[in-house]
Amino acid sequence: MQYCLVMHAVMETLVRLQNLEVGPNAESSAAKAAAEKLRAQVPAQILGHYLRLCARGKKGLALVRNQVCAECHVSVPLGTVVTVMKGVDIQLCGNCGRYLYVEPEGAAPEPVRTVPKPKRGRKPKVKPDASVG
Ligand SMILES: [Zn+2]
Repeated sequence: MQYCLVMHAVMETLVRLQNLEVGPNAESSAAKAAAEKLRAQVPAQILGHYLRLCARGKKGLALVRNQVCAECHVSVPLGTVVTVMKGVDIQLCGNCGRYLYVEPEGAAPEPVRTVPKPKRGRKPKVKPDASVG
């Protein structure tokens, strides 16, 4: 079973769905049709929770930024953030119950750590002179 891969795809679908529903063209028939297609791709159990949140006037998804839920501003355990980033499973915010997601690649939040700057001015590798008589 490759369920973890499915989870990753489900979250991507939910993010796209929410973007459609909160987007400026949410009322357009094209957006509604697209949202309908996306909903059909989400497992009923997961979609049900998402829709319950939406029905309460909330967003169903919350962005995790700097280990903090962007919707309720409560810190998210690092293990949960890592799980979300890896896309191996779906995680809920322990406080507001929204599905957690991270920004698409390139903007993924990382645990704070010190990274040494790459040294500049390093000489390129010189090929050894392998000439033989
Ligand atoms: Zn939250």
